[in-house]
Amino acid sequence: MQSVKLDGKRSVRVVEVADLVPGAGEVLVETAVSALCGSELHGYDGDGQEQGNSGHEAVGSIVKLGAGVSNLQVGQRVGVSAIAGCASCAYCAQGQYTWCPKLKFYGNMHAERFLAAANACHPLPDDVSWDAGVLLTGDGLGVPYHTSTKISSPQIQTVAVFGVGPIGLGNVLMQAHLGRRVIAIDISPARLAMSKHLGASDVVNAKESDPVALVRSLTNGVGADACIEAAGRPETALACFAAVRTAGTVVFNGEQKALPISPSEQFIRRDITAVGAWFYHFSEFGGMLALYRNGLRVRDLISDRYPFSEAPAAFEKFASGQSAKVILDYQ
Ligand SMILES: [Zn+2]
Ligand SMILES: [Zn+2]
Repeated sequence: MQSVKLDGKRSVRVVEVADLVPGAGEVLVETAVSALCGSELHGYDGDGQEQGNSGHEAVGSIVKLGAGVSNLQVGQRVGVSAIAGCASCAYCAQGQYTWCPKLKFYGNMHAERFLAAANACHPLPDDVSWDAGVLLTGDGLGVPYHTSTKISSPQIQTVAVFGVGPIGLGNVLMQAHLGRRVIAIDISPARLAMSKHLGASDVVNAKESDPVALVRSLTNGVGADACIEAAGRPETALACFAAVRTAGTVVFNGEQKALPISPSEQFIRRDITAVGAWFYHFSEFGGMLALYRNGLRVRDLISDRYPFSEAPAAFEKFASGQSAKVILDYQ
């Protein structure tokens, strides 16, 4: 079968690899579509992937069951959580695989076929297309959904999203759908325009004006009720604390290194809450599906699609910062 190989230094190839055999508790899935994730750009720009690729958002049809799999059938359409749990701890019992101390990551999903843990498969209902499914079962919408659970208070009315790459755009869509006033901040005019389309009421180009001052002026000097850090940069992290209102909440989505934080200034004296939100819980699929059936325009997050054979061009477009979600199509 064919699979994407990330060589690093921006080299991507479609190569022939050995067929996969599902192990105990696993299934083999024939890929319908896979989606590119911002986290893959580290390997794309840097050292690549020794084995295959970092693809971890995909949907398809089950073609083979491993030993002991009884909850799924060959032919079934599924989306998958790339993070699978041990299935025997208290977190796994609640579908909170990302909290499992023995969690396992499944990758290599930019390929004609991929392996997934049977307990990490979401059977896709008939009203969920492949495109909607890859967003609803992957972290593309999973992270924005999981983030929304951290700022669910009805008192939160204005949300500023710092950094509108694919995850930030997902947050814009999700928060606007939930009825919040959304302020999107980035330095890419293309992504700011996409934010408007996805429901942001205000957009701020941080190259042209001070985003903290603008968020404050857009909120009568008060600050946003919640700020989401989705750029993964120290300056945007600190800007989130400066732009959030007293007693507001900062949510971290973007991975980044240590940065200087003052407990007195950033937390204590203004009663600020800061939380992290990583990936999504397997158990949250039902909540995402309900929002989809309630009109959440998930497919609007897709800006580009390429046939699988053109994966190198897909990665190049994605890395240019001019896209939202980029899809690889295997059909
Ligand atoms: Zn991801
Ligand atoms: Zn577990």
